Amino acid sequence: MKVGKVDHIGIAVKDLEASLKFYEDILGLECIATEVVEEQKVKVAFIPVGDTEVELLESTDEAGPIAKFIEKKGEGIQHIAFKVDNIEEAIETMKAKGVRMIDETPRYGAGGARIAFCHPKSTNGVLIELSER
Ligand code: ZN
Repeated sequence: MKVGKVDHIGIAVKDLEASLKFYEDILGLECIATEVVEEQKVKVAFIPVGDTEVELLESTDEAGPIAKFIEKKGEGIQHIAFKVDNIEEAIETMKAKGVRMIDETPRYGAGGARIAFCHPKSTNGVLIELSER
C-alpha cells in the first residue's frame, strides 16, 4: 500500500454557503464544484488548496452522519483523507495489520472517488478515509 498525499480534509459545517465565504472572501480560495452524495446524506463543496483540497460537508438530513457529528462535537474537522493507488489493496493491508475498518469494501465518494473509512478506534481518534481517484 502506498499513501500518496493528503487527498483532502473534510470539515463539517452547518451552512455550506455561509461557510464558503471564509474560504473565498477571506482566504481567496475558490470552490470549484459542489455535489450532493445521497448515500452519505451530505452536500460537499470542493476547495482546492495547492495539491490537496478542503471539502466542506453540510448534512442534507438530520439523521445523516454529518448532522450527528455536529450534534456531538460541533462544527470542525470531521475526517482526513489519504490518497491511495489501489483501494482494495489498501483495505486488505489495513485489515492484515489489525486496523478496524468501517468499510471493508470500497464505496462511492464525492468527486467520483472510491473510498473506505478506517475506524477511529484504530487511528488515535481520527476518522481516516482512504481515497482512490
Ligand atoms: Zn472525504
